[in-house]
Amino acid sequence: MNCSDTEYNCIIVGAGAAGLFYAAADETEGRKLIIEKTSRPGQKLLMSGNGMCNITHGGSIKDFIAHYGDKGAKIRTCLYKHSNLELMQFMENAAVPLTERPDGKLFPASMRAADVLDALLAKAYRNGFAFLYDCAVTGIDEGSKGNASDGVCISLSDGRTLRTQKLVIATGGASYPATGSDGSFMEVLKRDLDVKMTALKPALAPVFVENYPYSNLSGISFDDVTVSCGGHTERGPMLLTHKGFSGPAMLHISQYVKPGAQLTINYLPDQNIADVYRTIRDDQPANSKGIANYLASEFDLPKAFAEKLFSVPSRKLSSIGHKELENIVHLMMDRKHTVSGTGGFKEAMVTAGGVSLEEMNLKNMSLIKYPCIHVIGEALDINGDTGGYNLQFAYSSARTAV
Ligand SMILES: Cc1cc2nc3c(=O)[nH]c(=O)nc-3n(C[C@H](O)[C@H](O)[C@H](O)COP(=O)(O)OP(=O)(O)OC[C@H]3O[C@@H](n4cnc5c(N)ncnc54)[C@H](O)[C@@H]3O)c2cc1C
Repeated sequence: MNCSDTEYNCIIVGAGAAGLFYAAADETEGRKLIIEKTSRPGQKLLMSGNGMCNITHGGSIKDFIAHYGDKGAKIRTCLYKHSNLELMQFMENAAVPLTERPDGKLFPASMRAADVLDALLAKAYRNGFAFLYDCAVTGIDEGSKGNASDGVCISLSDGRTLRTQKLVIATGGASYPATGSDGSFMEVLKRDLDVKMTALKPALAPVFVENYPYSNLSGISFDDVTVSCGGHTERGPMLLTHKGFSGPAMLHISQYVKPGAQLTINYLPDQNIADVYRTIRDDQPANSKGIANYLASEFDLPKAFAEKLFSVPSRKLSSIGHKELENIVHLMMDRKHTVSGTGGFKEAMVTAGGVSLEEMNLKNMSLIKYPCIHVIGEALDINGDTGGYNLQFAYSSARTAV
């Protein structure tokens, strides 16, 4: 690559959450640029938390580690150093105070992701970053592999080349590709730098099952279920959609399910099968309610869901036989489905896999082989649970790289 004389102190690739957190935090002097391949910044950030942006989680940062699977321990230092409390303060300083919901999720008090985006853009401009839209970074110079003195040369989709002292890669994963993060930059990294990647996989995706019975119950949610598959169990809220299961418990199990596997749902996770059976048996003689009404009120289940559990939902509880009763208890507490697939990258909230943490100096998020190239956010092989953990990592990794 024949590099132009145009030289920058810092170039960020990708104006998503991590790139913008970086730009908003980097107050150093110099010529600085963010290159974004789509026409708009922060498209995924705007979608986050249903447009409200669940930016982080409350409680001790120590409790965050378990929410990044087996990689959590590796990013401990980065999270502790730039914690959820620091992120709250950072947003407060940017005139976006946060509020904590009873479930521990933190949002901007305005409940508008757009306020987070606007504040980050304003800080980035104040810090001297220029923005280049509709332009992708398509290559990194083989010849100047990040020697601190040479900087790095990058090529752009408009045919230009630029040199920069510091390159920050914030190109995201491969989920929701319409937002711009389609995983294609991973191919550039593999081709141009000898950097190890772990395979990209959808994570936090809806789960589809054969003969899904709840299409017409779309929108019904449960506060607390357990879902099990392949030796993993997740507990939490679950949502019925018109095509399959979603909501935190199902999104979390999605990375462990495979077509053909058995998925088990327990809608009454605090109860014991034998006790539930006994409760219903004891209630039978004196109860004149229809079975669906009884199940909905006794076990706090959505009425429409309770109606689905029995072929004749209006039949009186007292008329239900022993075998039928056993079957109903199983449908509530040990409901088995055969997995047909998951939502894939189009519907997955995050991507598992990316630049291997073995390649990283996690003290400053630089590549060990190329100290002036940094990688932050979802481009790295880190993915968190729902609840604000992914945006927290975007922030913590970005701050660590500044
Ligand atoms: C529907 C949805 C809801 C979510 N809700 C939440 C939530 O409430 N809380 C939470 O913590 N997380 C949430 N997430 C996850 C969170 O949004 C992501 O983890 C986070 O946005 C990742 O930030 P990032 O900057 O690493 O990547 P991204 O935000 O994906 O940004 C990457 C950017 O890089 C650009 N880019 C890619 N390649 C190039 C290139 N070659 N040249 C130039 N630019 C390039 C892309 O166009 C994109 O703008 C949600 C995700 C989705 C899809």
